Amino acid sequence: MIHYQLQCEAEHGFDAWFRDSAAYDEQAARGLLECPSCGSSKISKALMAPRIGGTRQNAKPDDAPAKDQAKQVQITPEAAALRRQLLEIRSKIEESCDYVGPNFAEEARKIHYGEADPKGIYGETSADEAKALQDEGIEFGAVPWVPKENA
Ligand SMILES: [Zn+2]
Repeated sequence: MIHYQLQCEAEHGFDAWFRDSAAYDEQAARGLLECPSCGSSKISKALMAPRIGGTRQNAKPDDAPAKDQAKQVQITPEAAALRRQLLEIRSKIEESCDYVGPNFAEEARKIHYGEADPKGIYGETSADEAKALQDEGIEFGAVPWVPKENA
């Protein structure tokens, strides 16, 4: 048995066990994996945090929990409401701003220094670039970009 930490497109994390890595690949490819929280079948392996200490070496494969004991994640009404608000924010941004992709920092500077017409833009930037923009006094905000889904 092999243990994977998985997550869906809405970043609900859950644990799952497979016979071997090929079994995971096959089930993922056929869309048979489902998020226990929202039922999404867009599942990927979660990024694994490095394990500190390494005390699990003595764990026997027989100690592996059965698949039906996989962790369940419950979405609270508060979390669902927050998610809806973030989705609304996302929609408003998409309606009223121009998407500039990875050129966000460059475009934001042009607007700030008057080299481009003032307008709302959105896009991606690195943490370093975001820090540089802040230091230059350029106003912007970071918005959690929630995936759209029909759940
Ligand atoms: Zn989910």
